Amino acid sequence: MKLETLNFDLVVVGAGPAGLTAALLASNAGLQVAVVDEQAAPGGQIFRQPPATFNAPPSSAFATYPFGKKLLEQARSNTRIHWYYSCSAWGVFHPAKGGVQLAIVEGEHARLLDCKKLLIATGAYDLPVAFPGWTLPGVMTAGGVQTLLKSQFLCAAQRYVLAGSHPLLLLLAGQLLDAGAQIQEVAIARPRPQIRELLAGWRALPGHGRMFVQLAGILLKLWRKKVPLRFSTIVTRAQGRDAVERVTLSDVDAHWAVKPNTERSVEVDGLAIGYGLLASTELARQAGCSVSWNPERGGWVVDHDDTMRTSLPHIYVAGEPAGVAGAEIAHCEGRLAGASIVAQLMPDQASQTSSAHRELKRAKPFADTVARFFAPRLDALARLADNGTLICRCEDVTAGQVCDFLKTHPHVSSVNSVKLACRSGMGPCQGRYCQHTVAQLVASERGIAITDTGTYTAQAPIKPIPLTSLALVEPD
Ligand SMILES: Cc1cc2nc3c(=O)[nH]c(=O)nc-3n(C[C@H](O)[C@H](O)[C@H](O)COP(=O)(O)OP(=O)(O)OC[C@H]3O[C@@H](n4cnc5c(N)ncnc54)[C@H](O)[C@@H]3O)c2cc1C
Repeated sequence: MKLETLNFDLVVVGAGPAGLTAALLASNAGLQVAVVDEQAAPGGQIFRQPPATFNAPPSSAFATYPFGKKLLEQARSNTRIHWYYSCSAWGVFHPAKGGVQLAIVEGEHARLLDCKKLLIATGAYDLPVAFPGWTLPGVMTAGGVQTLLKSQFLCAAQRYVLAGSHPLLLLLAGQLLDAGAQIQEVAIARPRPQIRELLAGWRALPGHGRMFVQLAGILLKLWRKKVPLRFSTIVTRAQGRDAVERVTLSDVDAHWAVKPNTERSVEVDGLAIGYGLLASTELARQAGCSVSWNPERGGWVVDHDDTMRTSLPHIYVAGEPAGVAGAEIAHCEGRLAGASIVAQLMPDQASQTSSAHRELKRAKPFADTVARFFAPRLDALARLADNGTLICRCEDVTAGQVCDFLKTHPHVSSVNSVKLACRSGMGPCQGRYCQHTVAQLVASERGIAITDTGTYTAQAPIKPIPLTSLALVEPD
């Protein structure tokens, strides 16, 4: 059977701030646009909404990012765009006739979307950190805990420790307190900010007062509830019989190296880990777009020029896959990518690229300051795993197995070789959970830079899909 194929000027993957902004701009200019997202509604991670039947008040994120409310209203009322919600994009193909072909699946139903331009705005996901006990029930990423709260008003536990270094952790602390959860401690790995650092960060303030007001509100909430906020502190172990019951916290130095004899134990039934985000680049890498290593911006990020075009002429990128930088930059990059695509496909239209460039330039200093301030020490985090710690939870591969393999195969220096031999990265998550830990193990065992360890090859399907839908695909 031949698959249903549909034709568009532009297909956007991701209905977060970046993808929505680009799609609406292109559609308003007269292009035929389709948007694909795994979620059931627009908004991406930041503007994730509960079901309409919950009659919930508007998202608190609209107070910090007022553009979000308008964006969602416009998306909901736009009937010219083809919206493919609850659909996963799992492969990009390059047909001989030109353009790009995107394979998507909704349940068991697969489709191919032909387009002149493809915009990859797939966002980011929580940086997974492997340490003894991290696979116990009750240990979750900050984004995971927040997703349950935002989408279902569900608190996964009652007594939390929050550990990490990303601002999302503080946001989550405020949301958990509002939801009635108890927080035993917020453990931040970086050292307490120095006055000099705070003064340097002050330069990023203009135009971002709302974020500082939000931060001050959260700190006040923590103070009122007497929640300890400790810097230079890291979680080294989670323990419990069937689920997490206690966590071990230790002091760390400025490089996040654990100081001996500083361990202490805290009783919990929930641990939220938030050391940062990784750019979601699987689709772009599977398509063949080149990537570069940028540890402050989410690891491997998609290369692009100043029009947001990737190394492939028909594929653009915007938002977190181009470098993790928050919702405001995602919005600006979406506008720039949308304007650039319109300028390419409709050269007669007045171009909006210059104003989009100016907007992006204004937003950058704040994003740069935040990235510098909260950058995770990936090398130190990888050292938290001991030999028995599972690093690939899909294929049950431990850190010890990878290290033993590296010791007995001294010629191996790439994560892909480790994947082939140890199976780490071959499971349903396609390495999203283990790639960066494996890369750090290879880099430290061989004494090479992380950039020299490469990335796992991203293969279609980049997401688990039913075999029936794969059998139907006959790309041109
Ligand atoms: C779990 C989580 C929670 C966050 N919460 C906040 C917050 O509360 N406040 C804040 O300031 N920042 C938050 N962030 C940071 C957030 O990434 C940015 O602020 C902002 O949402 C980035 O916008 P974006 O458009 O680049 O990506 P996103 O908003 O992440 O949108 C990307 C969209 O692409 C979709 N997608 C990805 N891959 C595929 C695929 N293969 N097929 C189909 N759809 C796909 C996703 O479902 C998602 O809706 C969060 C990040 C994460 C990971």
